Parts: sequence; C-alpha cells; structure tokens
Amino acid sequence: MNRKDFPCLDVKVHNKPLVYFDNAATAQRPQSVIDAINHYYNKTNANVHRGVHTLSGDATDLFEAARESMATLLNSPSEKNLIFTRGCTESVNLVAQTFARSRISKGDELIVSEMEHHSNIVPWQLLCEQTGAILKVLPFNDNGELQIELLNDLITDKTKMMAVVHASNSLGTINPVKQIVKIAHARNVPVLVDGAQAMPHIKVDVQDLDCDFYTVSGHKMYGPTGIGMLYGKMEHLQAMPPYHGGGEMISHVTFEKTVYNAVPAKFEAGTPNIAGAIGLGAAADYILRHSIEHIHKADTELLNYATEKLLKVDGLRIIGTAKHKVSVISFTLKDVHPHDLGTILDHYGIAIRTGHHCTMPAIKHFNVPATARASFAFYNTKAEIDYFIESLDKAREMFL
Ligand code: PMP
Repeated sequence: MNRKDFPCLDVKVHNKPLVYFDNAATAQRPQSVIDAINHYYNKTNANVHRGVHTLSGDATDLFEAARESMATLLNSPSEKNLIFTRGCTESVNLVAQTFARSRISKGDELIVSEMEHHSNIVPWQLLCEQTGAILKVLPFNDNGELQIELLNDLITDKTKMMAVVHASNSLGTINPVKQIVKIAHARNVPVLVDGAQAMPHIKVDVQDLDCDFYTVSGHKMYGPTGIGMLYGKMEHLQAMPPYHGGGEMISHVTFEKTVYNAVPAKFEAGTPNIAGAIGLGAAADYILRHSIEHIHKADTELLNYATEKLLKVDGLRIIGTAKHKVSVISFTLKDVHPHDLGTILDHYGIAIRTGHHCTMPAIKHFNVPATARASFAFYNTKAEIDYFIESLDKAREMFL
C-alpha cells in the first residue's frame, strides 16, 4: 500500500503538486490496474465466451478471474451471484426494472433514505411513474444519521422494496445496513444496498449483511470507469426477468421463443467492457493484497486529523457529523461560495468537489445551496491536509 502505486498523484496542477481530495467522485488507479488493462489490449485482445481460439480463451479466463476476485472481496457465496454492469447507476436501474418491476403494482410502496445519491432515487421514481407505486423516504437527523427507529412504522403491508446507501458520498455517514436489512426482512421487504462509497473504505461482506442486492462502482474502488457490479441473492437472480436482450444472454433463439442463458450471463447482454472488468479484478486484487482493514485505518486517521483541523477554521461548518463516517468531509465556509472556493483551491493544486454531489435532497436538509467536499483516500497524507488548511485560510482572507 503505497502512494507511489498511483502514478496520477505525481502530476502538477498550475505548477503545484496535485493534492487530490476528490476521491469520492472518482479515486485514482494503481499501476497494477493500468497494467492489467494494457496487458489485455496488448496481449490478449479478443472477445470473451465465444471463440474457440486461444486468445479468446485467454481473454475469457482473465474476465472470469476478475469476477472471482470480486467474489472474494465481497465474500459472495459464488462468483455466479455477480453481474458486470456499467457501475452503481446501471446496477440500481437493473434491479428496479427487473426484480422490482415484476413485483410492484399501483399503490405499492418503495422506501429510500433521505441521503441517497440520485442514482438510488431516480430509478425508483421512474418505476413509480411506470407502475403507480409510491416512493417513501426514511429521514436522517441533523448529524446525518438515519432515523432507524422510524423504519418499522414506515414499512406497511404494501412495501415491496427498500434501497439504502451503505456510505453517503456527501455526508460521509456509514449506515447500519445490517440492522436495516434485519428490520426490513422481518417485514418481508427485500433490500438493495448502494455500495459505491463503502467499497473503497470498509469491509463489505454481502453474506453477513444478508442484503438482497449490493451495487459496486469500479471507479470509486481504484478501478476503471464505466464498470461495476451487481451482487444478488441467487434465488432472486434466477427468478428475475432479463434486463437487456441481445447476444450472450441467450442459450437458444428462434423467432417463436428465446431461452435465456444461466445467471449471470442472463444479465450480461452484448459484448461486455472486457478491459474494464479485468481492470476491476485488478483493483479487487489490490485491495485484497493490502487489506481493507489497513486501508480503512489509514483513511480514518486522515478523516480524524482533517476534521479536527477544519473545526478550528473560522466560519467553517461541517455538514454531516455522524459518529461513523468514511473519509468524506462536506463543509461550508462563511460568505464564500463553494464554487469560488473550489476554483481558488484549484490554483493551489488542490482538487475538491463543490455542489450538491448528486444528493440534492440531502444537501437541502441543511438549508445550504451547495457544499465543498474534501474526500480522502489512504494514499493522501497529513502534509496534504496541512497545505489544504493553509490554502483555505488564504482563500478566506481573499473574501474578507
Ligand atoms: N451511489 C453513490 C453513493 C455514489 O457516490 C455514486 C457516484 N458518485 C453512485 C451511486 C453512482 O455510481 P456510478 O458512477 O458507478 O454509476
């Protein structure tokens, strides 16, 4: 586990060393991920699952090995429970339009939380529009912690599905998803967990969580963009109708009737993002090699260090003060618009995110139009945080 594993951290921005604090938007990739992608294109470029020739066999082996690495990382009962998708967004849409759509009718209810990313709101709203179902919301308190005690009352006999984020990308909150799943399951409500921000920071064990679905975003967990996964319980994946139709997801086609392929191929229509999948496997291997516990310890230390320092900055308000957080800090700085702050910090070589972070309802809760967000990965350093705080002070002075 080494900062030097991440070549992009060496670039200069405005002639200053890059300080990359936008890891929640997308993380950097280690050289091993870049090498795995290059190796595929340089040495084994062929389509998967279809060819009898050697190169196709090699590409298929690498592609399927990536699925196995992800199964190990997630403690999935089998690699067959894992479907390659374009990312969390596609994984949620897949579940909404197959599993949920086939069980939901007019007047039924779905539950999401107030802190969801738009990717875990809009697909459910689309489903509600299509079916006449109703979307209900589990609120959070002013620290940004879900009000779990309200969940049992929110669930009714009409509740057909719940979707909740494991770790919030704007507030940083780590939700007690195991407890949520338990409450929901006691009322026969299946649960999808959005794991985009949990995977790069904390141990995820889908069997221990007992969730019905778990979504993974490759680019947040040091892998490539445009690739992710959906974990599903096998009984659901087998019962669900396919999402997209096309090649690969069939076992037999006639004009009268098509017989679908077995899971997971049933959900992987068309030529997949082969290089992306192989890169994702390399990212999983990187995390497994260095241990997520190690990674979590390092980024929690950065979170605590930065939180302590930021609280001393005059006029700074941290948005999202839950007890359990991943290394994401949203904040506002009195009289300075977050976008202006982001632009000034960029001139110091510091990359942060500003805006609503695709969680408009969560930001609205705090009565602010936008926040600035610094999000750390284990490869960031305390020296970078010190420089960030100094730069914040300079930015603030400019606005006084
Ligand atoms: N959920 C959360 C919590 C996220 O942070 C993101 C990405 N910002 C997504 C979902 C969407 O993930 P993807 O980019 O893989 O579609």
